[in-house]
Amino acid sequence: MLLYNSLTRKRDEFIPNEPGKVSLYTCGPTVYHYAHIGNLRSYIMEDILEKYLRYAGYDVTRVMNITDVGHLTSDADTGEDKMLKGAKREKKTVMEIAKFYTDAFFADCAKLNIKTPDVVAPATGCIDEFIHVIEGLLEKGFAYEAGGNIYFDTSKLKQYYVFNDFKEEDLEVGVRDGVEEDGNKKNKADFVLWFTKSKFDDQELKWDSPWGIGYPGWHIECSCISMKHLGETLDIHCGGIDNAFPHHTNEIAQSEAFLGHKWCNYWFHVHHLNTNSGEMSKSSGEFLTVSLLEEKGYDPLVYRFFCLGSHYRKSLVFSYENLDNAASAYKKLVAKIVSLLREDAGEIDSEAFDEGKAKFTAALDNDLNTSLAVTALYDALKLKTTPATKIALINDFDRVLGLDLVKAAEKQMATEDEAKATVSDDPFIREIEEKIAERIAAKKAKNYARADEIRAELSAKGVTLIDTAQGTQYTIQ
Ligand code: AMP
Ligand code: ZN
Repeated sequence: MLLYNSLTRKRDEFIPNEPGKVSLYTCGPTVYHYAHIGNLRSYIMEDILEKYLRYAGYDVTRVMNITDVGHLTSDADTGEDKMLKGAKREKKTVMEIAKFYTDAFFADCAKLNIKTPDVVAPATGCIDEFIHVIEGLLEKGFAYEAGGNIYFDTSKLKQYYVFNDFKEEDLEVGVRDGVEEDGNKKNKADFVLWFTKSKFDDQELKWDSPWGIGYPGWHIECSCISMKHLGETLDIHCGGIDNAFPHHTNEIAQSEAFLGHKWCNYWFHVHHLNTNSGEMSKSSGEFLTVSLLEEKGYDPLVYRFFCLGSHYRKSLVFSYENLDNAASAYKKLVAKIVSLLREDAGEIDSEAFDEGKAKFTAALDNDLNTSLAVTALYDALKLKTTPATKIALINDFDRVLGLDLVKAAEKQMATEDEAKATVSDDPFIREIEEKIAERIAAKKAKNYARADEIRAELSAKGVTLIDTAQGTQYTIQ
């Protein structure tokens, strides 16, 4: 499998550290508000990566942190803690909003068929690990104390800017946002590992440490949580592209300084979902959430389908018009599957199955090309083969795509059949249904002669029976 690696800036052959096993780390949400559908685009594409690795036979262990402390309003380590800001907004405690928005995040994930990672670790549960790594960094001379805070010294590294499209000036974004620059830093790019002094004295969550009572910086949590659960070498680290700098750059700096060797081999970054008017926002414009889409009548899986239509390394523009197009394509796909389910299923043709599957895996093996994988799904429907083969292919692909296509088709069929059943006051329909029931009983009793007789009786009355995987269907001429 080829996977684009932000570290090497090319598509690399994916080779895990240990054959057959993959360690995968994902930056989790900062739980001060609902996730917007931009955040969820990243989690959907990371879910596809995880599911495809499993589909390809790897034994995957995936870890995700929950940021419930230390993520400040500016990435340059200044401003108020986002969690505290959220707590003040809602007049609740930090722990109350952390619980509420963590639950809300996983509820959204469930609606989008995003699998919950094997380990979910809130930052507030790993304080000892943060302190241990910070102590190690101080001992090795990679960190210093200034003005009561502990900073990472970026000048001690041979190379700090590992993802080279980022530079020092990018750190000034926070300053432009009206947040003061931190005068304690020796170098502009240095970052806080542990805060004991903050302008914001009302920081709710604080812990004792060798440097005084305080709280961790944001970056240290991901390094420590990853090392705690996945060891000293990580196969793949995921996140949105905005996290590449400074967050991931800082994670690499501190992890490798602490470990004394290379830490993570592949960096998987999902590009942003934007609106026509620009960046997705939680505070201005329409706050686009999964619940809002549901209120407007969209199935969350239609949003997943919309995301799969574009490559994860391209930014994607969200508009209701684009979502409507995805909704109608999803509906047509489900309708096609309904008609397949109503046909005589036949046997699975393994040659056609392998042909369909080869296209699908070729698409995803090429840097997770989901739009081509969806094309492979359409192609599978056009194969000259039995409905059973096509349904088997759809179910197989859906292990990765997570669109619940056959489930949606079965639901659609049940609705259609229910509508049919409501007219069964009609004595003719009742007779057909009784005959079908009698035929099923005859087949169960291995009385095939009687079963054939019933088929012939009904046929004489213009009723054709069709045996499908979902039971006996019929048409009336
Ligand atoms: P946060 O909750 O702010 O820590 O972000 C959660 C995840 O969403 C991170 O991986 C971000 O990089 C990612 N993210 C933030 N904004 C967007 C966006 N507009 N499109 C895609 N991913 C995003
Ligand atoms: Zn992170």
